[in-house]
Amino acid sequence: MAVRPLLRAVIMGPPGSGKGTVSSRIVKHFALKHLSSGDLLRDNMQRRTEIGVIAKTYIDQGKLIPDDLMTRLMLSEVQKLHPYNWLLDGFPRTVPQAEALENTCQIDTVINLDVPFETIKQRLTARWIHPSSGRVYNLEFSPPKNAGIDDITGEPLVQRDDDKPETVTKRLKAYEAQTKPVLEYYQKKGILESFSGTETNKIWPQVHAFLQTKLPDVSQQEAASQR
Ligand code: AMP
Repeated sequence: MAVRPLLRAVIMGPPGSGKGTVSSRIVKHFALKHLSSGDLLRDNMQRRTEIGVIAKTYIDQGKLIPDDLMTRLMLSEVQKLHPYNWLLDGFPRTVPQAEALENTCQIDTVINLDVPFETIKQRLTARWIHPSSGRVYNLEFSPPKNAGIDDITGEPLVQRDDDKPETVTKRLKAYEAQTKPVLEYYQKKGILESFSGTETNKIWPQVHAFLQTKLPDVSQQEAASQR
């Protein structure tokens, strides 16, 4: 008899929302298989597969991969996960992708990390670099002794284009425009669970408590068996 999966989940959250950290904690605590579309694409690009070569042309332009290509790639991987609990990360990003996923399997829950844009902007724009040495500062965790100045040479620090407030705002707006319809799609189905906060360490306990209503925390079991 086939073993039915207990939990088929999706995690969503804008860049800088702490999605990577929360995903890895979920995987560790609940022993879910993790399938990230970004990782899968990077692996294909590195191996120069046909899909990887096509995907690179889109990613290099900062564009989304077309739905049909993305869906084909992801769904063939999802099928391999069939008997396990799993967590999809980065997919679906559009409503057609969500519909294609639903035609293949049922999703039980969608975890949405709801972090205010202002908090994300602060996080993503906190990085400053000293161009000639490559020294990296973070205004939150490792600030320079004097604002805007390299500690060693006294030369000015700069922000990468990617880290500038206007670029970050653009990325966040693009994320919102793309994914809002996907969040609404899952909201209508009654499976969207949003977790709000400004700190990952405060959001995580909420996500953990929610998932514990669905699955046992295997990291606690492992710790207990070693006692
Ligand atoms: P990520 O690591 O999730 O930010 O993904 C890196 C890049 O891969 C994105 O900027 C997109 O160009 C592409 N990508 C990842 N997932 C998807 C998806 N579900 N649909 C379309 N493009 C995607």
